Amino acid sequence: MKTITTVSELRRALAEVRRANKRVGFVPTMGYLHDGHLALIEASRSRCDVTVVSIFVNPTQFGPNEDLSTYPRDFQRDEELCRDAGVAIVFAPGATEIYPAQFETFIEPGELAKPLCGGFRPGHFRGVATVVSKLFNMVQPDVAFFGQKDFQQCAVVRRMAIDLNLATEIVTVPTVREADGLALSSRNRYLSEEERRRAVSISRGLFAAMEEFRLGGRNVDKLIAVANRYLGTVDRLQYLELVDCDTLKPAVSPLHRPAALCVAAYVGSTRLIDNVIIQASP
Ligand code: AMP
Repeated sequence: MKTITTVSELRRALAEVRRANKRVGFVPTMGYLHDGHLALIEASRSRCDVTVVSIFVNPTQFGPNEDLSTYPRDFQRDEELCRDAGVAIVFAPGATEIYPAQFETFIEPGELAKPLCGGFRPGHFRGVATVVSKLFNMVQPDVAFFGQKDFQQCAVVRRMAIDLNLATEIVTVPTVREADGLALSSRNRYLSEEERRRAVSISRGLFAAMEEFRLGGRNVDKLIAVANRYLGTVDRLQYLELVDCDTLKPAVSPLHRPAALCVAAYVGSTRLIDNVIIQASP
């Protein structure tokens, strides 16, 4: 495994790979890797010859009062996990490698970036879309892998790939969870033991709504209410919404199209997000 920190070195390494006609899979991350990231790497390894993982805590997707400076980092551990997982290249650039002085060109996503997290994190998806398109230009992957945990991010990136004619196929990988249901997240490490116990109510609420749907519930307000019953234990609910999977607009009753039940909530000072897809099984 190679660890590379500059774009020029990355291009050189990938030119060799491409000369050998190998299929390149790409997993963009902000590091502090967990089994969710490893599932993306595994998906890439199963579909591609060479897997590139980027580790870059992207400043442009953090708001002024967010956790950029305290975001958990452990590069040595990340490298070891990547090596063990069969990653070929870890790309870990510094901030100036990605954002040179006087940087001023951004990708501006449209309607898909407005609801849900977009309403609470202004500029977040602009930062995500910009860094993802830059990383795609650097890696030029055949396939890129994203986690369903960041459902809106997947929607924004897919739209961008279509709108900008990107040559990269976008694959979404199901959310990896702790045994009790909590979605894995680098930010879970901020949780105290007591907060960790309360955080599980987020996924419990989502699963309860899925069960309500499975039993025939098609009323949007009722599905949301079922999930909401569990969310009394969080400290601040930002949103709990059932949205159409394609448009991210509020789902309508009776539910007849695939929808995503999405939640963002603070437990203590940690902001957690999660979602489940609610749809009739084929
Ligand atoms: P992050 O490092 O948090 O920016 O995440 C990097 C990638 O890993 C994104 O595509 C995330 O959606 C994905 N990811 C994060 N947590 C999970 C999880 N629990 N299950 C699956 N994918 C995840």
